Amino acid sequence: MRFAACLGLLIALAGLSSCQQPAAAHRARPQDELLILVSIDGFRWDYLDRYDVPTLRQLAREGVHAQRMTPCFPSKTFPNHYTLVTGLRPESHGIVSNWFWDPAYAETFGMSKPDSNAESRWWDEGEPVWITAEKQGVRSACYFWPGSETEIRGVRPTLFQKFNGRLRSDARVDGLLAWLDRPAAQRPRFCTLYFDLVDHAGHTFGPESPETAAAAHEADAAIARLLAGLAARGLREKTNLVIVSDHGMSECGPDRVVFIEDLMDPTKVRVESTGPNGGVRPLPGTVTAAALAASIRAKAPPQLHVYLREEMPERFHYRRNPRIPDVMLVMDDHWSIESKVGWPSRRATYVKGSHGWDPALPNMGALFLAQGPAFRRGHEFADVENIHVYNLLCAVLGITPARNEGDDRLVREALAP
Ligand code: AMP
Ligand code: ZN
Ligand code: ZN
Repeated sequence: MRFAACLGLLIALAGLSSCQQPAAAHRARPQDELLILVSIDGFRWDYLDRYDVPTLRQLAREGVHAQRMTPCFPSKTFPNHYTLVTGLRPESHGIVSNWFWDPAYAETFGMSKPDSNAESRWWDEGEPVWITAEKQGVRSACYFWPGSETEIRGVRPTLFQKFNGRLRSDARVDGLLAWLDRPAAQRPRFCTLYFDLVDHAGHTFGPESPETAAAAHEADAAIARLLAGLAARGLREKTNLVIVSDHGMSECGPDRVVFIEDLMDPTKVRVESTGPNGGVRPLPGTVTAAALAASIRAKAPPQLHVYLREEMPERFHYRRNPRIPDVMLVMDDHWSIESKVGWPSRRATYVKGSHGWDPALPNMGALFLAQGPAFRRGHEFADVENIHVYNLLCAVLGITPARNEGDDRLVREALAP
């Protein structure tokens, strides 16, 4: 009888944990702890073993470490940074790529367009963690993060910094530390910090180059500087660090390129993205999307996979948003789709590394580690998808997450009991 009752309870609990409800906050709100979310853009999961990164390795040993974190499709910077802080996939949070066309606004969103970063209408399909935090009385500060420069659902982070890609990593760390010098009552309890030097090196020189090794080492040194700065302020023991990347990096080059112009009439389409995946939409009054997809498919080389938006493979979760192009051109690892416009000169400086391919490919895997008083010590686990990070951040902060697509598996894996 007692056994049956226990079994019933266990079954009920298992049912609860596997549903899509927000994970409940698993700990009381720790008033004196700090949470810093650090992103090292383009830090492939295996750089941790491959390169000289002693600080990151020590943090992974002392805290929790996923062998590999799987990003969302497309494995690009803006969609995945927004997934990390919302727990929503790109089709749900609306930042479907670094650049995309919005048919309702009849305008293009662009990662490097100041307007796109300053206008909430692009971003408010999702609720980033700093907004969840501010709404629940937790002060937050973003030293760079896609989406942090605008009001979302009427709220902003208390402190934020307009993106400046020229600012050196050390200066970013010092800027964040200066925010922490505020009196305790005004100090942020949740912060983001972002480095892009590893991504730049990966693109320019390739993932397995001495230059990328040096960039990884420099990012590691910046994190050591952060730890020393926290220690000097008496904050080190009270700080929870979650260190992630948005995606990995794969070799590519100008000899592994397929051209748009060899597949379709470029005057009849809007080309919305190129690179490891492409997206096109027929211009009004030309052809239907189905006819366009069929004609591309008839000419496609084996490295190119052509899908109508609604035919995208289920595991990509990339159908349910009108910002996704009508016809997707998904390339195999290492291959790119490009336009011939300006190609002779672009060829000479074409990237040696890139990302955007199928997130399940080993090379697209990202970094996840966490260390601090909230986390288990010395615990390594297997792959985890990045949609679960938001619930973990909320649990560490002791706040209730907004509705999202993650569950509590990372909370259970990473938080100290
Ligand atoms: P990609 O490799 O094309 O996916 O994008 C990486 C680039 O995004 C980095 O090199 C940064 O320069 C840029 N980036 C990252 N965060 C921001 C931001 N908040 N605002 C504007 N650009 C950003
Ligand atoms: Zn990136
Ligand atoms: Zn990149």
